[in-house]
Amino acid sequence: MILSEFSLIDDYIATSATMRPDVCVGIGDDCAVLEVPTGKSLAVSMDTLVAGRHFIDGADAVNLGHKALAVNLSDLAAMGAEPAWATLSLTMPEADVLWLQAFMQGFLALADRFGVQLVGGDTTRGPLSITVQIHGFVDPCQMMRRDGAQPGDLIYVTGSLGDAGLALRLQQAGKLDIVHHQQLLQRLDSPAPRITEGMQLASIATAAIDLSDGLVGDLGHIVRQSNCGATIELQRLPCSTAVKAAIAESNEWSLPLSSGDDYELCFTVPAEKQQQLQQLAAILDCPLTRIGVIEQKSGIRCVTAEGAGIDVKSGYDHFR
Ligand code: ADP
Ligand code: MG
Repeated sequence: MILSEFSLIDDYIATSATMRPDVCVGIGDDCAVLEVPTGKSLAVSMDTLVAGRHFIDGADAVNLGHKALAVNLSDLAAMGAEPAWATLSLTMPEADVLWLQAFMQGFLALADRFGVQLVGGDTTRGPLSITVQIHGFVDPCQMMRRDGAQPGDLIYVTGSLGDAGLALRLQQAGKLDIVHHQQLLQRLDSPAPRITEGMQLASIATAAIDLSDGLVGDLGHIVRQSNCGATIELQRLPCSTAVKAAIAESNEWSLPLSSGDDYELCFTVPAEKQQQLQQLAAILDCPLTRIGVIEQKSGIRCVTAEGAGIDVKSGYDHFR
């Protein structure tokens, strides 16, 4: 190990503002030593971002730092967990201090927002790759698993669907206008994990997942693991004006149904808890929209307002 690795860690990485009382030993020793509160279970998740696969070379480092942590926080949100600690494995082609400063700025700003302390990691040289492991606390009796949905449960999503997919589509077509499409681009580059929503929903929802790969695919995990199926009502899907316009123009539904990177939550709620959910919706700073229902019959069916079915895989509307 060369000396510059130590100073990179001390000067640029170990600069977390959040200092949690449950961190007995943080960055600087061979291990972090951490205390889980009595009665809670530890929820752990990890995600890797690889240059050229998950982001383009030369992507903004502040956004990358934000996104690397945000996608992990989104997994905690989907379990209804409270975030606590993160570890970070960084592989970088060179000791680029300006890049690292910007990356840590994005990472730590989001960490501080959710009270997360960076407690350890690893720093090596190689093709740019970022792995974050996140740790949080769940009430073992209230966590939202993927296998808890029951026929008759209503299906909801937080926020709106398809914005990140539209931003990516415009970017790839060279049609993205940074000023005009600022809000769309922010959904793609700087997603907001639904932590508060997940923690509040844990006592009401029977199952949940975060939407990283598209609604149909991710809801597919819930229905398969819960041994049931679902119908989605297309006209209920919450979409921004821009996404609605893109759907109308292309006459297909792939943006809200199958584009990724939304990082909203999809969750199921027993019909008798709808009122409780509405009370919660009134205090949350985020829309909760009912989009369909869980059914006994396996598979996912998407229906238009007129009751016509569409091909779920492509999101293409054969009937319009
Ligand atoms: P070791 O050789 O014992 O694995 P390192 O020299 O790799 O330890 O790391 C020294 C300390 O710095 C450890 O506490 C480690 O967790 C922390 N650390 C190293 N890289 C990172 C990183 N990218 N993010 C957070 N902490 C890190
Ligand atoms: Mg090491």
